[in-house]
Amino acid sequence: DHRLARIASSIRVIPDFPKPGIMFQDITTLLLDTKAFKDTIDMFVERYRDKNISVVAGVEARGFIFGPPIALAIGAKFVPLRKPKKLPGEVISEEYSLEYGTDKMEMHVGAVEAGERALVIDDLIATGGTLAAAIKLLERVGVEVVECACVIELPELKGRERLGDKPLFVLVSAV
Ligand code: 5GP
Repeated sequence: DHRLARIASSIRVIPDFPKPGIMFQDITTLLLDTKAFKDTIDMFVERYRDKNISVVAGVEARGFIFGPPIALAIGAKFVPLRKPKKLPGEVISEEYSLEYGTDKMEMHVGAVEAGERALVIDDLIATGGTLAAAIKLLERVGVEVVECACVIELPELKGRERLGDKPLFVLVSAV
């Protein structure tokens, strides 16, 4: 697709952020390029508009940027999957492992119903731990996760393997 080159080149790489040795993929520059931003949303909308998806679940924080415009365009609701102690209502939570230690992802009870079909969206997949936790959280309440989608994949980290047989759709591969 001719749109992908512009999307890829709009992403800025910042070396040694947040720690030495990390090449941080910065999507804020994609958001400054109105054509790249629109093309990004359009490509997801084209893929998901006729898939009977009723829920777009966005992972904090950058899943909150890409998720809502996709949800609006495909006629789905948006459900934020948040870091601990951010959501004010009753939550269910899923613990997952990080490089050092663990983290938690939370979702409001009642945000989704059993049997709904969900798309999970985040900006980037690295080890896949975050998306795997999102899938588990939704599946625990009976939601079918149709697919996960990210703008960027770091294929060297083999995050896809953490998702089992769940399909993953990405626009850009980075090293
Ligand atoms: P994973 O759980 O797949 O190892 O890490 C993915 C999560 O970390 C995502 O929520 C993503 O936003 C964040 N992340 C890790 N590395 C980067 C990066 O280089 N750029 C951006 N934008 N996010 C990253």
